[in-house]
Amino acid sequence: MNDLLAAYRYTTNNHVQIGASTWCGCCSCVQLFPAEEVVAWTGLTMDNLDDPKAIANQTALCPRCGMEAVLGDKSGVPLSAQFLARMNEAWFQRTLIRKPTPRK
Ligand SMILES: [Zn+2]
Repeated sequence: MNDLLAAYRYTTNNHVQIGASTWCGCCSCVQLFPAEEVVAWTGLTMDNLDDPKAIANQTALCPRCGMEAVLGDKSGVPLSAQFLARMNEAWFQRTLIRKPTPRK
């Protein structure tokens, strides 16, 4: 599998992975930061606030830019600035993941 696509999977529902990591990197702002800086998560609602499964499936928000694009070192992905830059290029410039443009 394409290593960028493989890494992409780790940017969502990654509460457990980030919790076990020491360092994190962001594919959006291409910065590295300690895992404990990640304090914002999405995925919980008033209904599943106490559900351990929902908690484990939360998605980290980057403490620097607020995007859901955080990778932890426990994911096994090489957290180098170079790799993050490749992720950024492929992902955010839509060369890897294309969204269909609606025709009118
Ligand atoms: Zn960021």
